[in-house]
Amino acid sequence: MIRIPLLALGRVLAAVAATWLPGSSAGAADRLPIFDAHLHYNDEATAVYRVADVLRLFRENGVTSILATSRPNDGTRVLAEAARSTPRAAPRVVPFVRPYRNQADRQTWFNDPEIYALIESELARDADYRGIGEFHVFGRDADTPWVRRIVALAVERGLWLHAHCDDAALEILLAHDPRVKILWAHSGFSTPPAQIAGYFARYPNLVGELSFRYDVTEDGKLTPAWRALFVAFPGRFVVGSDTWVNERWSRYAEILAYYRGWLGQLPPDVASSIAFGNGERLFAAGTPR
Ligand SMILES: [Zn+2]
Repeated sequence: MIRIPLLALGRVLAAVAATWLPGSSAGAADRLPIFDAHLHYNDEATAVYRVADVLRLFRENGVTSILATSRPNDGTRVLAEAARSTPRAAPRVVPFVRPYRNQADRQTWFNDPEIYALIESELARDADYRGIGEFHVFGRDADTPWVRRIVALAVERGLWLHAHCDDAALEILLAHDPRVKILWAHSGFSTPPAQIAGYFARYPNLVGELSFRYDVTEDGKLTPAWRALFVAFPGRFVVGSDTWVNERWSRYAEILAYYRGWLGQLPPDVASSIAFGNGERLFAAGTPR
C-alpha cells in the first residue's frame, strides 16, 4: 500500500493541477512532479545560492520533495527549517545525516570513530533524520568495524544508507546485515542494467538512484535495456539532481528536464512512480521507521 502523508499528497496534487493543464500540448511527463532524491546543499553552495534562491528553483522546476544532505549538516537543517516555517513555499524535506564535516572526510570517514560520534550526535537532534549519507566507499573500504557499526545502527533505527559505492562495496554493506535499506547513488554509476536487475532480485531493500546515468538514453531515446529494467522494477528507482558542486545547481533546470525527457517515454504509471511516487512511499513522513 502506498502511504503518502496528506500534506505531501496535497503538494503533489497541487503540482499536478498546476502543471497538467487541460489542453496543454505538452506531454504529461513534461511537468511530472519530481521527488529529488539526491540533493546536496553544501557550504560552498549556501555561500552562492541563498535559501530563497534554491526554494525558487524547486518551485520553478516542479520539485515537490527533496532528500537533503549537506557537508557539513547545517545546510540540510536550514532547508528542513525552511520547509517547517514556510511549507507553501518549500518542498517537503527528507533529511539524511551526512558523515562529512569537510571535503577531506570523504577519504577517511569509513575508518574514523569521530565520524561515528558525529552521526550519533546528529541523530540525537530532533530533526527526523531518515538516513545516513550520501557517503562514498569502494571495495574493501566498506569492510571496517566502523562501517559495520553504521550498518547496525541503520538497521536498529530503521534508517536508510545513501551509498555511492561500487559493486564490491555494495555487496559488503549488504553482507554486514542483509536487512539494511540502501539507496544506491547513481545505481553504481556504470553498473550495467542486467547486473542491477540481479541485485534487485537478490536484495529487496535496494533502491537505485539515477543521477549521472546518462547511459539511460542514446540520442535522447531510452535504451531498450533500461526501459525493460524500469518496467520490470518500477518501484525500485528514484531520480536526483546530485548538486554536489555549484555547477550542478547552475544546471538544475537542465538536469530535471533530462529526466522528464526519458520519463515521458515510459508508461505513465512507471514514469510517475520513478519521478515521485517511489520517493513519497519510501521516505514518507510520519510513518514508523
Ligand atoms: Zn551526491
